[in-house]
Amino acid sequence: MATMSQAQVGSELQELARRHLWMHFSRMGGYDADHPIPIISRAEGCYVYDQDGKRYLDGLSGLFCVNAGHGRTEYGEAAARQVEELDFYTLWSYAHPKAIELAARIAKLAPADLNRVFFTSGGSEAVESAIKLARNYHRVHGKGQKHKLIAREVAYHGTSLGALSATGITDLRSQFEPLTPGACHVPNTNVYRWPEDREETWAADAIEERIVFEGPETVAAVILEPVQNAGGCFVPPDGYFQQVREICDRHDVLMISDEVICAWGRLGHYFGCERFDYVPDMITIAKALTSAYAPMGGVIASDRVAEPFMEGTASFAHGFTFAGHPIAAAIAMANLDVYEREDLCGHVLEKEGEFRQMLESLHELPIVGDVRGAGYFQAVELVKDKETKESFDDEESEKLLRGFLSGELYKRGLICRADDRGDPVVQLSPPLIADSEQFAEIHDVLSTVLAEAWDKVVS
Ligand code: PLP
Repeated sequence: MATMSQAQVGSELQELARRHLWMHFSRMGGYDADHPIPIISRAEGCYVYDQDGKRYLDGLSGLFCVNAGHGRTEYGEAAARQVEELDFYTLWSYAHPKAIELAARIAKLAPADLNRVFFTSGGSEAVESAIKLARNYHRVHGKGQKHKLIAREVAYHGTSLGALSATGITDLRSQFEPLTPGACHVPNTNVYRWPEDREETWAADAIEERIVFEGPETVAAVILEPVQNAGGCFVPPDGYFQQVREICDRHDVLMISDEVICAWGRLGHYFGCERFDYVPDMITIAKALTSAYAPMGGVIASDRVAEPFMEGTASFAHGFTFAGHPIAAAIAMANLDVYEREDLCGHVLEKEGEFRQMLESLHELPIVGDVRGAGYFQAVELVKDKETKESFDDEESEKLLRGFLSGELYKRGLICRADDRGDPVVQLSPPLIADSEQFAEIHDVLSTVLAEAWDKVVS
């Protein structure tokens, strides 16, 4: 019997993908014979391989999620053992051992009294759940008017309508309006673009001003990432989160730390809030909880937030069929075993300086305006003029990012994110096992491609 060659399999998959697969956030019309859909078919460690066997450094850990690296078959073995024991049971009025063990393990790792875990299937569901929990928490305390949510401009918090209302990216929001009412946005901590004489407390002050403007009796929660992803890894100024914590306490507003990206070692700690030394009322998690080997997320709530729902006839009237799925929970347990055994957080802390230094060396290129981030979560902002920090207009940005950089970086074997949800940036978020060898590879590709971008697109 004739077998299909790899090339035949590849072209058939291309055809099927173009005809039937609806890729997310993708311009499907942009793919044709000359612009094939990138199909990733195999992965190992820090690398993924396409249909033709070409290797790419996964500088984005999938989508900020394969933190422990690809190809760990022990996660599959944990999943298989779980199928033999209990394939599925729901958390709707039942429990099962793996969800219980995982909740207890997460609570032990989480700071302070963040002891109660409400599982979801992913990040948007986690954010959605946190928003509903914040509203419900105030309602059970007789403050049902407290329903508004304060988020930051350009931040990404997910795509379901509630989470999208928190998302601060106009282009993503406007096409789906009206969104869940009650969300409003305040400035982020894009310090690179701040005037030099701006006070460090400015962005936190803006949160308090907005709470006061809206009326504290109407505000339920503030949601923020430890390091804001969209816009390019905005780090907080010193004292920012401490000040936000005080503001939230002053106005009886809950503080939600959206750690869908920043938890699980991305910043060198199990939780991003540990990096900046604050304790939120809720932490939203997903992505690397399982290192993306299975979909899973959750909200970790403080005892104070959970308590009203733990007594008498009270309940949080909210849930998802697959939340806390036993197989995902078994994989999360195996993942956390790897974190402990290989001290992945310790590795990030040890190596982040070297990673950052490598990126800082790109400053010698005329197109590199800023390098920022924390841990294994870094961004390089691209500018037209280093001195004035002049950025690219929409047309130039389109030409630079989609017309050149994205394709060229991929062609040269580096997957990273060339993004212009704020000003144009290249973002890197490699698996936590990445080391000097991968940093050198990233440097080789980035320095070449960014120099070419300047020659071809800018000058
Ligand atoms: N929150 C943050 C901070 C995120 O980065 C994301 C996704 O990237 C989400 C929420 C939504 O997660 P998901 O895509 O799993 O729904």
